[in-house]
Amino acid sequence: MSEQNFDLVVLGGGSGGYAAALRAVQLGLTVGLIEKGKLGGTCLHVGCIPTKALLHSAEVADVSRDAAKYGVKTQFEGIDMATVTAFREGIVASKYKGLQGLIKARGITVIQGEGRLVAPNTVQVGDDRIVGKNVVLATGSYSRSLPGLEIGGRVITSEQALELNFVPNKVAVLGGGVIGVEFASVWKSFGADVTIIEALPHLVPNEEESVSKQLERAFRKRGIEYSLGIRFQSVTQHENGVVVTLENGSTVEAEILLVAVGRGPVTAGLGFDEVGVAMDRGFVLTDERLATNIPGVYAVGDIVPGLQLAHRGFQQGIFVAEEIAGLNPIIVEDLNIPKVTYCDPEIASVGYSEAKASEKFGADQVSSYEYNLGGNGKSSILGTSGSIKVVRVNDGPIVGIHMIGARVGELIGEGQLVVNWEAYPEDIAPFLHAHPTQNEALGEAFLALAGKPLHA
Ligand code: FAD
Repeated sequence: MSEQNFDLVVLGGGSGGYAAALRAVQLGLTVGLIEKGKLGGTCLHVGCIPTKALLHSAEVADVSRDAAKYGVKTQFEGIDMATVTAFREGIVASKYKGLQGLIKARGITVIQGEGRLVAPNTVQVGDDRIVGKNVVLATGSYSRSLPGLEIGGRVITSEQALELNFVPNKVAVLGGGVIGVEFASVWKSFGADVTIIEALPHLVPNEEESVSKQLERAFRKRGIEYSLGIRFQSVTQHENGVVVTLENGSTVEAEILLVAVGRGPVTAGLGFDEVGVAMDRGFVLTDERLATNIPGVYAVGDIVPGLQLAHRGFQQGIFVAEEIAGLNPIIVEDLNIPKVTYCDPEIASVGYSEAKASEKFGADQVSSYEYNLGGNGKSSILGTSGSIKVVRVNDGPIVGIHMIGARVGELIGEGQLVVNWEAYPEDIAPFLHAHPTQNEALGEAFLALAGKPLHA
């Protein structure tokens, strides 16, 4: 039994945990970072990065199918999953190596092993006690299932979906949220038949309704099937596939069923409740400064109720390190964190939907402008349709931006600055965007809301 002492102990080396560790050492604190698996966590190894590598392979497949349209002679012959996998693994390996190097170079002590909170300031790893003046809980999340729906065999989660070494002929996807639509999009591009089953009335139900509807139309055009507003009832597996039965008795047959119904917190059996940390359905409760009810114990990332996104984890990790160092950092609410859904077409948003803005500020106090990407030169060259909708308070700031179309995830950076800085359209409209870019579509919406539309 040994004891190690640090200014800060971080339990979990994913996006939230390693960001807290990196910022804390920058501020002069000594840090012990406990990780049972691989530094980088879900996002780097089985989440953001590998799925986007897959999506890139999918995009290349679509471009090569369409190449003749652009005057390029080539023939799409199919998907070589071994090479798709090698590409994905190569990207992850290089980012993992970079992260390990950074953590080492910054002088963070990494303690490899499974940690358990045994006292407010102590995490036990094997026989060792890791003691911190402050502790950050950052143990992340796992793929949830539904009651009675067992994962195994041909019923898989996103982690097994990444590892598939073949393209299924037909896939059923349970859940039309971010992860469900991303995999649906990839598999369709790879040549599979895809059916999404979503209990709520729309795909990506957390997005602006007009965006959900445009995604549904685009998916329909791509041949992606979906059943909306209907619940899953049961699934049976047979040698070559699954039969999914829905609540109305209809069935969907497929080779694989991907369960993408959300992610639960990794907190069970880790001692949090024994030590007295306040929890709700497994999530760790914090105040707005990410402090739990136990002095000196903080929580960040997916175990904190709210958006489950890597950059929220980064932001919270940085915040907590600065808070502990006494820097009084500013609070960023979930509402002002940008979200991107990386399917084809892509979706990006930040701030209030028009409906939520109307509830908050009053319907007569809110206006919006939706710019159709059909009017944007670069969008036409990219062959994308879609729109950018900007919501403002009348005589006030922009409070929400909602986009759909090719590569709009690259545009939301500007959107989140505008929303977080509470910019008025009148103030930012004069700063025109480079031509021809898709950013101009944002500029067109700002100009229109400032009362001086250019091309609209
Ligand atoms: P995690 O990244 O899950 O890290 C937690 C870490 O804690 C893990 O490394 C784990 O091994 C470790 N740990 C757990 N328990 C213990 C213990 N007892 N002792 C020691 N170590 C422990 N987000 C985006 O922003 N953009 C995307 O494009 C995106 N795509 C995604 C795609 C998929 C398929 C999935 C599943 C997720 C995606 N996400 C994306 C979400 C993102 O991955 C998470 O929000 C993010 O990883 C959360 O960070 P975290 O630090 O809270 O947890």
